[in-house]
Amino acid sequence: MSDHTFSATTRAVRAGIATDREHGAVVPPIHLSSTFAFEGFNKPRKFDYTRSGNPTRSQLADALASLEGGAGAVVTSTGMSAVALAVQLLNPGDVCVAAHDCYGGTQRLLRGLAKRGHFEVVFADLTRPAALDLIAARRPRLVWIETPSNPLLRITDVRVIAQCARAAGALVVVDNTFLSPALQQPIALGADLVVHSTTKYLNGHSDVVGGAVISAERSLADELAWWANCLGITGAPFDSYLTLRGVRTLHSRIRDHLEGASAVVEALCNHPAVSQVYYPGLASHPGHEIARAQQSGFGAMVSFEIVGGTPAVELLASRLQCFTLAESLGGVESLIAHPATMTHASMDAEARAAAGITDSLIRLSVGIESPEDLVRDLTTALDAVVATSGVARAKSNVAVTVTGHAEPTDVVLLGVGAIGRELISQTTSGGEAQQRLRICGLVDRSGYVFVDGGFSPQRLIELSRLKSAGQPLVEALGGRAATALDAVREISGASLVRPILVDATPADTTDVLELALSRGFDVVLANKVPLAASQDSVDRLRAIADRAGRTILHEATVGAGLPVIDTLRKLLEAGDDVVSIEGCPSGTLGFLFGELGRGERFSVAVRRAIEHGYAEPDPRIDLSGLDVARKALILARVIGFRGELGDVAVESLVPEGFNTATRAVFLDRLHTLDDSWADRVAQARRDGNVLRYRAHVTATSIVVGLAAVPATDRLGVLHGTDNQFTFTTSRYLTQPLVISGPGAGPEVTAAGVYNDLLRLDRSRDRRRVRGQERVPNQRTRNARLELERR
Ligand code: PLP
Repeated sequence: MSDHTFSATTRAVRAGIATDREHGAVVPPIHLSSTFAFEGFNKPRKFDYTRSGNPTRSQLADALASLEGGAGAVVTSTGMSAVALAVQLLNPGDVCVAAHDCYGGTQRLLRGLAKRGHFEVVFADLTRPAALDLIAARRPRLVWIETPSNPLLRITDVRVIAQCARAAGALVVVDNTFLSPALQQPIALGADLVVHSTTKYLNGHSDVVGGAVISAERSLADELAWWANCLGITGAPFDSYLTLRGVRTLHSRIRDHLEGASAVVEALCNHPAVSQVYYPGLASHPGHEIARAQQSGFGAMVSFEIVGGTPAVELLASRLQCFTLAESLGGVESLIAHPATMTHASMDAEARAAAGITDSLIRLSVGIESPEDLVRDLTTALDAVVATSGVARAKSNVAVTVTGHAEPTDVVLLGVGAIGRELISQTTSGGEAQQRLRICGLVDRSGYVFVDGGFSPQRLIELSRLKSAGQPLVEALGGRAATALDAVREISGASLVRPILVDATPADTTDVLELALSRGFDVVLANKVPLAASQDSVDRLRAIADRAGRTILHEATVGAGLPVIDTLRKLLEAGDDVVSIEGCPSGTLGFLFGELGRGERFSVAVRRAIEHGYAEPDPRIDLSGLDVARKALILARVIGFRGELGDVAVESLVPEGFNTATRAVFLDRLHTLDDSWADRVAQARRDGNVLRYRAHVTATSIVVGLAAVPATDRLGVLHGTDNQFTFTTSRYLTQPLVISGPGAGPEVTAAGVYNDLLRLDRSRDRRRVRGQERVPNQRTRNARLELERR
């Protein structure tokens, strides 16, 4: 079937179907005959001798040419004979530039022939820009690409290399064995020849050794067919028949391979016995973006480093039941290989080290068995490695010495915006949090991802990158679609260790928090909305927390990372009376007035605050005064205020009616306020004042609005995004207590969350210790018994 109006899947299935004119056989018959009768004297038919041509082999060649988008194909006896065939195009004096990490057998052949003067070979890292200079300088006849490469799955940009090679007058060959035409078509990317070991995905059943070279141009295909016949390396009819049968199911097999690979990668990324995973589907993989662009799937080859070196490899291989220790790849059955002692054993240790192939490296060819079985099998075997190799013991010992409890605390992060991502970055950059806390769930409106036992730092960074590139969580490996409420419900069904829910969203998440508290989570808030909701709602939330014996911490809601709430609590705990709190609790507005003071236009200053990530996701919340009003209400409620957001007297920075438009229209219209703001700033300056946005909070009243304060005043000298809070209390009456410091941006806010997390974690340690102290000794136990008897 050559009609390209049909999809590749259809063309693969229907290759040669119902073409038998003799008997109408639906599946084309196999022609094993080595020779074919002439029609008459000097009248050969289309096929005369199987080395030069065979109907069954021809059908396979046509199918492969069609799937790769080539003009013709030569089917060879092995993948290596396909490689050998392609290099027939080289003459003495020609240069061949080849990927330094191409298949070991290809390297051996290129080196062997070069040694005997057939041509010169130069190995280069084709993933680096320097390769382009090399190609331009050496002007090779052939450039040999293999992408993804074996075993580290590095990705070469075929389009870029092909363009450069073409300009230098070179032919471009791509070994497409690792992906098959179902996932990558190099000719469309600029290659002249595609080489396959059909032994792998194309046949797909590990029962044939074969190869193929597909050419973009007819003339090249003819030249190669001539050489294949001349050398006697054409494929056998029976092998061709089986391979064509394999090709019919290529696309559906590949779909299953991809599903299995995703599940396996996710499991590997989250297992403590795995220190590094190589898979182009991971956003952290250096070739990820190129792979996304030139492939239609990331493939089913996965490599990883195991903790514990060769003994761990040996143990793993012996425990696996669904992965067979064997060379090769691309079959329906899963295989595991140890490149250092198997596929790459022919390279010397130095060359292996240069290629990044360590003794701890393992390569998986993920088959089409049930993904659940593969993951279970792999996880069980990796667990055995952990148990025997001391990985876990080493890890938990660290945790025990630092935290006093063996297992880290489970953290579920609600909201993976700027603050959430910053928190991920702070908790994965080593240090105390990484040992004490483990993030095990990410939840937002785009879905959720959860891993029992916590994500590895690599996986977290990966997920964070994915979110910052705008991808929904449901599309992440293992991502699931659910509302935040359902996600937390499902996650809370797992056995979690002292779980904490961090809310870093800007939404009304009261229902999610209530559920989390009732299911045993403590809560850390960066989100102001639930605590600035109706008094009834906040009362209910607190009641649920009390009933469940859970804690709500929210240092990051007011004053970003400043210890404002903590200070207030301490004052109250010590019996002090807080008379009033006055301050500038908005880094965003502080920044805005700083810019205005420097003569910047209002509309430009607002946009700049947004660019810096200081503003709320919707900047109208800052400019209407709502953000400061919420903070003031939260503060006021800590000191006994009972009332609603509507009770806060708020002065907006934009005129009435301005906020009704959409965010975009709102931003577009801001420039109409530039002149009046310039006048206000100039007037304040003439009076020796500066403008500030100030909150005044008592237990009975809250006022939020614009103030012109003397430039020399404490508020007047406040710097940039800094916040300032002045507490007037019975004990700090004549000399109020002042706290100031950084007050805006994801970094500072995440730091506030981070502190709350560690504080919660530590307070649990203390509880544990106190609990142990309270275990009654013999005497008190006896006394109690006596009391009970009486
Ligand atoms: N190319 C690649 C990328 C391979 O992995 C292999 C074999 O593993 C070959 C070529 C050679 O194929 P064969 O073993 O069918 O000769």
